[in-house]
Amino acid sequence: MTALLDWYETVKRPLPWRETRDPYALLVSEVMLQQTQAARVVPYYEAFLGRFPTAEALAAAPLEEVLKAWSGLGYNRRGLALQRAAAHVAAHGWPEDLTELPGVGPYTAAAVGSFAWDRQTAAVDTNVRRVLERTLGRPLTGRALQSAADAAVPPGRAADHNQAMMELGATVCTARVARCGSCPLEAACASAHRVQIAPKRPRKAVRFEDTERYARGRVLRSVLHGEPDGLDPVRRERALAGLRADGLVGAR
Ligand code: SF4
Repeated sequence: MTALLDWYETVKRPLPWRETRDPYALLVSEVMLQQTQAARVVPYYEAFLGRFPTAEALAAAPLEEVLKAWSGLGYNRRGLALQRAAAHVAAHGWPEDLTELPGVGPYTAAAVGSFAWDRQTAAVDTNVRRVLERTLGRPLTGRALQSAADAAVPPGRAADHNQAMMELGATVCTARVARCGSCPLEAACASAHRVQIAPKRPRKAVRFEDTERYARGRVLRSVLHGEPDGLDPVRRERALAGLRADGLVGAR
């Protein structure tokens, strides 16, 4: 895996969360990155940490302010879960098992654990899984997947290794193309120059205005700022039910 780490040193982008070992800042970045591209996250990450620099500050903030700082990132429930996680940390400190925190799954836990404390755990998302399956030449699921991923982590280099695997899966060994000639794992990869990519199936386009996410955003703005939501009653009620279930608006 030295080739992978050497390659990563030459391509790594200067993203602000790569300059810190603060677990709170890293958790903020990982939650923001769950469904948003890195380049888009940067200004939100910096503004959010400027407004809520610590878990204690975020835990004490009114929900409206948190949602305002989150506005534009989408998926407001992520911001809500992050505040609940901050409240847990502010009250009890960081748990040994980070998946005990609201909104933190095994991937986020492994990423934060390795970046903040050098925990020797592989962070496995779909990109990393694809790289592993291609290099080993077989499908992997569940424990076998996590074990194979953990076995590839070089001692003491978990943080860089996880970043490198994510970067490789996002830029070189992607779902749509395998750039084997530019890949640091080429010599050791069971699938080098043999990856067959299925043609993309055309997807029916869905207007954003027709999505549940749009409806929830409209209703949330209506509740918080009194703006008319413009929705029909059935859609409004469904969106409200979803927001209530996520704890973003109170029960009425
Ligand atoms: S050699 Fe090709 S298939 Fe193997 S990991 Fe690299 S890009 Fe992916």
